[in-house]
Amino acid sequence: MISKKYVNMYMVLTLVGLLSLIAALMIEKYKVILFIIGVVFMIISTYINIKYIRCPHCDTVLNVTKLNTKKCPHCKKHIEVEK
Ligand SMILES: [Zn+2]
Repeated sequence: MISKKYVNMYMVLTLVGLLSLIAALMIEKYKVILFIIGVVFMIISTYINIKYIRCPHCDTVLNVTKLNTKKCPHCKKHIEVEK
């Protein structure tokens, strides 16, 4: 069972990280700080993915965007995401 809390956290951090990186390309004045914020958020989201979003059967790190298939790509067992 994968906790929905971590999936949501991953989604939010990735989104904020991406937006910061895009903003860094557009806003000349704050590009350095926005770039750093973006990279930090991406690192944290990757950390959450690697640490908490794993197959409960074989421990493979799962691709969050493919969680709706409800199957582990490695061991093909059913994966439950907490509601
Ligand atoms: Zn598995």
